[in-house]
Amino acid sequence: MITGDQVLIKQINKSLVMNIIREKRNISRAQISKITGLNRATVSAIVDELIYEGIVIEEGLGESKGGRKPIILRINENYGCIIGIDLGVNYVSVLLANFNAKTLWSKKLMLNIGESQEEIIDKIFTLVDEALINAPKTIKGILGIGMGVPGITNHKEGIILKAPNLNWENVNIKEIIREKYDTKIFIDNEANVAAIGEKWFGTGQKFKNLIYVSAGIGVGAGIIINDKLFRGANGLAGELGHMTIDVNGIKCSCGNIGCWELYASEKALIRLMSPQNDINYSKNKKLIDIIEQARNGSIEAINSFKSVAKFLGLGIVNLINTFDPELIIIGNTISLAYDLIIDEVKRIVNDNCFTAKHSKVKIEVSRFGTDACAIGAIALVISDIFSLSF
Ligand SMILES: [Zn+2]
Repeated sequence: MITGDQVLIKQINKSLVMNIIREKRNISRAQISKITGLNRATVSAIVDELIYEGIVIEEGLGESKGGRKPIILRINENYGCIIGIDLGVNYVSVLLANFNAKTLWSKKLMLNIGESQEEIIDKIFTLVDEALINAPKTIKGILGIGMGVPGITNHKEGIILKAPNLNWENVNIKEIIREKYDTKIFIDNEANVAAIGEKWFGTGQKFKNLIYVSAGIGVGAGIIINDKLFRGANGLAGELGHMTIDVNGIKCSCGNIGCWELYASEKALIRLMSPQNDINYSKNKKLIDIIEQARNGSIEAINSFKSVAKFLGLGIVNLINTFDPELIIIGNTISLAYDLIIDEVKRIVNDNCFTAKHSKVKIEVSRFGTDACAIGAIALVISDIFSLSF
C-alpha cells in the first residue's frame, strides 16, 4: 500500500530531479544521483516517468570516465508553450515562450489615455489570440497564462484590488481571462512577477536575497528573501514606490505625500522636462526621446536623468538598509537609460549607505529590459509546473 507520505515524498523527489535537470541543463542520471543523494534506481524511475510525460528528453552521450558513456538529459522545450502578459499603465505586451522560457513571439500595443477597461481587455485578447496563432505544435499545447499588473492584487484569486495608474479597482482579471481561455492562469503585481522572472531566468539566478526595483511610470519592488518572494501578511508588500522620501513633497495619487515614485520614475522625468514642472505636460513626450536628447548632450535631459538617478539611489539606500540584499536589479523603462543613471545611483549608494560598506551588494540593470515582466509572467507558469510555489 502506498501511503500519503510516500506519495508526497515521490512528488518532492520528482520536483527535485526536474529542477536539477533544468538548472544544470545537460546532466546524466548518475550525476543527478550524486547531486541529490537519491539512489540510482529511484533517479532512473523518476527520469523514465519524466521522459514518458515528455518533460525531459535524452540527447546524445556524455563523456565517459571509464565504462559506458552516460546518456545526457535535458528539459524538452517542446513540452508546451506559455503565454506571458505584461499589463502596463500605457501599454500591454504579450510574449509567447517555449518550455525553456525562450521567446518565440512577442508584441506590444500602446494604450490610449482614458481607454476603458473593456477596450484594454480587448487589446489583451487580440494579442493573446495572435500568440496562439504563432504557437508551434507541442506535446501539451498552451501550459498556462501568466500576467503581471501595475497594482496591488489578491494573487490567489487573481483579482486586481487596485491599480491607481489605470484607475481599476476590484477587477477579477483571472475570471475574465479564464472565460475566454481554458488554461491555468496566474496573476500578480508586475514587480513581483519581474522579480520571479529574474530569479528563474535572469540576473538573479545565483542569488538568494534580491530586490527587483521596477522603475517605470510608477515605482514598485519585488522582494525575494531566501529564494522566496516576500508577500507580507496580505500579499501587499513591495509597494515601496509609496514610501515617503520628502515630507514636504508632492501629493501622490495614493493619498500620501512625497512618495518615492514621484521622484524616481518616468513620471518624474517627464515632469522635470516640462516647462512648468507640470505633471501632465505633453503626454506624447516619450521617454525614448528624452534618452536620445540626453545622449546627444542636452544638459536639461542629462540633469533630469541625474535627478531621477539621485532619488532612485536614495530609495535604494533605504532598501539596502532595510533588507541587506545581495543584489538590487533596476528594471522597467528607466533601465533603458542605464548609461545615464547607473553611475549616479551607485555613487549615491556608495556615499549614503553605511550598511553597503559592510556587504557586497551588487546593483545591476535588468538584462530583460522592458520584457522583464512578461518573462516573469512566463516564470509564474513554469514555476508552478516545477512545483515550487512562490
Ligand atoms: Zn504614493
